[in-house]
Amino acid sequence: MKWKNISFFLQLTMLLACVNAEGQSVENDTLFYQLLRQAMIENQIIDRGVSDERVIKAMNDVPRHLFVKESLRDLAYADGPLPIGYNQTISQPYIVAYMTEILQPDTHHIVLEVGTGSGYQAAILSKLVNHVYSIEIIPELGKEAANRLDKLGYDNVTVKIGDGYNGWEEHSPFDRIIVTAAPEQIPKKLVDQLKSGGLMVLPVGKTSFGQDMRVVKKDKTGQVTTQETIPVRFVPMIHEHNE
Ligand code: SAH
Repeated sequence: MKWKNISFFLQLTMLLACVNAEGQSVENDTLFYQLLRQAMIENQIIDRGVSDERVIKAMNDVPRHLFVKESLRDLAYADGPLPIGYNQTISQPYIVAYMTEILQPDTHHIVLEVGTGSGYQAAILSKLVNHVYSIEIIPELGKEAANRLDKLGYDNVTVKIGDGYNGWEEHSPFDRIIVTAAPEQIPKKLVDQLKSGGLMVLPVGKTSFGQDMRVVKKDKTGQVTTQETIPVRFVPMIHEHNE
């Protein structure tokens, strides 16, 4: 570990001891979680090369611990995914930041997310774009995420329960599409629902054979190109109907 990190952790530990000694409530976004979040951003996100200031600010503004079960809150800023029930996970913070950065979100964008899960990625995007439409296939998770986003005031996110493999025709075409469960191939309907000049980021592949992150670009003439970026490991996309 670099000296900068060791010294940062020492300072953090001392600060956390003070915060806990004062007996602050850990229910909401207290100094305790703000400090853990700053350490996450410094050590997991900026040190690994994410540099978009808007993305970093969004990661700092969204209280990730409120997107996991109460018993897991103190682990919310750790360097990995966490279970959210129903065999699903909230993605590792770095992966959320990385995907958000390569999605190149802009304030006027209408975005489709496939795989709402906890709602965390949708909350991050909601800070950066005009509107997020997010689809979740597991009804219990979708309802929980919709309630959470509503309660926390992310009012430019609309969640629906359904199979995101088929996209969300009604609100298409989308400036951006982000997929947070891995299909074995790029779903054709999602490419169809991407605007010309638009961009989609998604993990592709079978978990056991490895997956990679792909960036799909549709140019102004409608021509589609795909680029592979980093190897990743996501939960597989559930797909009910073969189309
Ligand atoms: N973006 C989420 C991570 C979710 S993990 C977050 O920030 O917490 C992937 C999610 O995709 C799971 O909740 C899973 O149920 C969902 N999923 C899998 N297949 C899907 C499909 N075909 N349509 C919509 N959601 C799907």
